[in-house]
Amino acid sequence: MNELVKISNLAKQYNNQEVLKAISFSIHEGELFSILGPNGAGKSTLISLILGLAKPDAGEILLEGRKLETQSIEHKSMISVVFQNSILDPALTVKENLFIRAYFYVNNWKEAKRLAKEKLADVQGSHLLNKRYGVLSGGEKRKVDIARALLNTPKLLFLDEPTTGLDIGSRADMWRLIHQLKEKYRMTIVLTTHYMEEAKDSDNVLMLDAGRVMAYDAPEALKKSYHCLTLEDVFLTIMEKGRENYECFSL
Ligand code: ADP
Repeated sequence: MNELVKISNLAKQYNNQEVLKAISFSIHEGELFSILGPNGAGKSTLISLILGLAKPDAGEILLEGRKLETQSIEHKSMISVVFQNSILDPALTVKENLFIRAYFYVNNWKEAKRLAKEKLADVQGSHLLNKRYGVLSGGEKRKVDIARALLNTPKLLFLDEPTTGLDIGSRADMWRLIHQLKEKYRMTIVLTTHYMEEAKDSDNVLMLDAGRVMAYDAPEALKKSYHCLTLEDVFLTIMEKGRENYECFSL
């Protein structure tokens, strides 16, 4: 698989606190990539740097082999992001929210409507078209937010904690959707999560803690090399024992 994003020795400080400490890893085309870590680990900072919303103090980010140019329209149109706080207008209907945004991309109302309906169908949200966005449930809002992010058919889709705050059924639903989108569009999906076990079906995971990469590999490979049954155990082992002594004591 080709490298879509290559990160080398990326470092960022806020108020003399090293939030990211020279981290390096790659995200490959078409993979589902999970960034795991506790609050304050540096996940949001890392995503802001990749999106070009903040500037690194050191290191390099390459997108398709070229240096990240925050002002480049080509780079911007390659990436879409769904943050936890939606950017859609709660007073408008789903249809109004999506049609207006689709129009920005295609400059033609008929095509905008077609595009918005297609992306809403992709997230199994067609029945929400005429509802006011503000009255939707958490899971429904998240689906419409993803439909919005798909309007420009991005190569790389970032989902910031897509299952946080959802009930157990909606969480399972969201995971099914993520896998379906990845298959349909052959899109690279990068997500952050606190829920270790939800990341088990990712192609690769990056575990961050206090700005450092604690682990970076496929879930099965991590479980094997740390002799653990679950990703949660891998993470706890790394956190509790430090990097010199890896063995999972639960086995
Ligand atoms: P996570 O997303 O893993 O919870 P963050 O990247 O949000 O972690 O934060 C990592 C650390 O960086 C935290 O200690 C946070 O307080 C600090 N931080 C993040 N953004 C800023 C900012 N804009 N100004 C100052 N400190 C920040």
